[in-house]
Amino acid sequence: MTDIQPTFSFELFPPKTDKGVARLRETVTALNARRPAFFSVTYGAGGSTQSTTFAAVDWIREQGIAAAPHLSCIGSTRDELLGILQRYADQGIDRVVALRGDLPSGAGAGAIGDLGHANELVALIRERFGDTFHVEVAAYPEMHPQARNFDSDLDNFKRKVDAGADSAITQYFYNADAYAAFVDACADRAIDIPIVPGIMPITNFSNLVRFSDACGAEIPRWLRKRLEGFGDDTASIAALGTAVVTGLCSRLLEMGAPGLHFYTMNQAAPTLAIWDNLGLDAVNALPGA
Ligand code: FAD
Repeated sequence: MTDIQPTFSFELFPPKTDKGVARLRETVTALNARRPAFFSVTYGAGGSTQSTTFAAVDWIREQGIAAAPHLSCIGSTRDELLGILQRYADQGIDRVVALRGDLPSGAGAGAIGDLGHANELVALIRERFGDTFHVEVAAYPEMHPQARNFDSDLDNFKRKVDAGADSAITQYFYNADAYAAFVDACADRAIDIPIVPGIMPITNFSNLVRFSDACGAEIPRWLRKRLEGFGDDTASIAALGTAVVTGLCSRLLEMGAPGLHFYTMNQAAPTLAIWDNLGLDAVNALPGA
């Protein structure tokens, strides 16, 4: 795999309430002490979170912290997407996460918008903005849930790379072998961009099952059974979750993963517990710091 300096980053979602905004700010402040490469902020398909994503990104930037907004193309016109990208370019934002997104269930085919897949968004960004942005895309070691099969999903991942993606962040997974096999399959196709594992800390069993079912991430049976067995004992769930995810991260870094991207769910403590177990302060120290 790659020997470049690993990139550590944190993902946030845009809160809807004042309480949520306060929590996001506390989370960013706590996590920023770890000097991540950037904080990314998700974006709802069709612009459903546009104003809250902008507000979160603006606040992060006002703190002098690097922000990488997500942009999903489904449900939007080309002009709407270009308008958002121009706003980010004008703000000096230099990294975006380019996605297709998902339409709400029941939306008709007419709701798709001008671009059907993320590779078209990457191509649009490169065509109109050249190298203004470092473009991240999504990758799926356990296969995207709508993909026909693993090979066609890889072909589609390669389309995004060929369109100009600089690096990728994966869907979360709990099986390091799935990541290793995916990275090997990418290498066989001459895909050589960094593929950073997405890491989901485990804090709440029912939420984890719901997210995982929706996004196609597998919770290994042994882990599902052990977590389920804890019932409402959130302390035991968190303790096992932290140990398991620390072990996963440790293995991924030993395998040469080019960094880690934490799905923080706007909570600092679960990510910090894993970070501290891994001793990442030392790994992430700036040269000469
Ligand atoms: P694509 O790369 O377009 O792939 C979607 C499906 O279409 C796959 O099955 C693929 O095999 C197939 N496909 C791709 N290209 C083609 C093509 N040219 N022709 C035919 N088939 C094709 N969602 C949000 O709404 N907001 C977010 O902020 C967000 N952030 C995310 C961040 C990360 C790191 C990840 C992993 C996911 C994120 N998602 C987000 C979820 C994502 O939008 C969904 O997984 C969505 O279903 C697919 O998005 P994509 O960009 O991977 O799509």
